[in-house]
Amino acid sequence: MTRRRWTAQDQITAEVAAACGVPIRHIGDAIGRSSSMVKRHLVAAVAERERVDSRERMRKLLLTDSSRINEARKQRRLKDPESHRLREQSYRNRNKEALRERGRSFYHANRERLLAERSEWRAANKDKVSNWSKRHYAANKASRIEYSKAYYAANKERASKLRRLHYLANRDKYAEYNRQRLASRTPEQKEADRQRGLQWRIENRDRLKEKRKDWYKANKQKSIARSRQYAKLNSKRLKEYRAEYYQLNRSQIILNVKAWRAANPNARREYSRQYASRRRAANQRSICSMTLAAKNARFALWRNRCAFCGVDAKHPRNAGHDRLTVEHILALTKNGLDEADNIAPACHSCNCSKSNAPVEEWYRRQPFFTEARWRKICRHCPGAVIGQLPLAMPPADTEAA
Ligand SMILES: [Zn+2]
Repeated sequence: MTRRRWTAQDQITAEVAAACGVPIRHIGDAIGRSSSMVKRHLVAAVAERERVDSRERMRKLLLTDSSRINEARKQRRLKDPESHRLREQSYRNRNKEALRERGRSFYHANRERLLAERSEWRAANKDKVSNWSKRHYAANKASRIEYSKAYYAANKERASKLRRLHYLANRDKYAEYNRQRLASRTPEQKEADRQRGLQWRIENRDRLKEKRKDWYKANKQKSIARSRQYAKLNSKRLKEYRAEYYQLNRSQIILNVKAWRAANPNARREYSRQYASRRRAANQRSICSMTLAAKNARFALWRNRCAFCGVDAKHPRNAGHDRLTVEHILALTKNGLDEADNIAPACHSCNCSKSNAPVEEWYRRQPFFTEARWRKICRHCPGAVIGQLPLAMPPADTEAA
């Protein structure tokens, strides 16, 4: 028997002959091969055909009877989960690329539906999702933070805009959340929060300062109005606070003042100079300048008592001075005149406290205000009335008035 390679022609002949029922021995004789060789090739061919057939059958079965087959598979899986897992794994390993490709194309073909289903599921399983994401965050904290930072740095404008929009759209929610959070904090936690906040403010002092400055520049009027409004609504509280602060920090404040005076040696002289110059100017404008007699007469009108609070010169409110001070009802800085009917006696406390404020506005805020005293001031001092008028008159006009 010659040793030739088994050709395709041999295969066809053998298969046809076998199909016609010719015994293997005769087939071998006919094509000049050994019976074992014929047998080997025929068996392989039959096995292959059967494999193809069975796969085909399986596919058909799957199409026509999928639920039954799925059920059977499931049963098998339940009966022996470990071997199922191994089988599955090896299948996956063998068909990695194909499976990936299949998944991809399935996803693209059903994208809308899948996304809708996913969001539906997530809405129905909120707790689960949030637990998962929490766990995932905890397990990948460092890399998540890194990622956020990088993202924020690369999309600063957009991120802060989005954050702001989100805040505005969910303001109530944020407020509620913060309220609840605060309510659930223990005192120790609250203290820790406070410390953290303080620490942060210390660390970011310069930045905050810059920010405040910018805001102030952009909202100057608003800021002033706000402060005024606050002072108006909380005048009592502010006063108490200032008094308390002064008591607590008295020695330090005195030291500060001393230090400031030492650093600004000419300040007091400058202040006196300004006052004298204003007084001189007021004097020049006045029609009949004030004499000592005129001053004494004015003080006598109030029986040498403070026109506002009614104390005499010996009262502690006069802060140890011998005489009551000369109070310009319409302040010199507001173009008031140094004339008899613009002055009234005032104790040191009232004089300092009033300073150059509009007299009625200031006086009505004081605890010692009385209508009778106010009427008396108005009767004797035209400046008290003029000072309330919303006029912005040049000095010459004031004189005429
Ligand atoms: Zn007084």
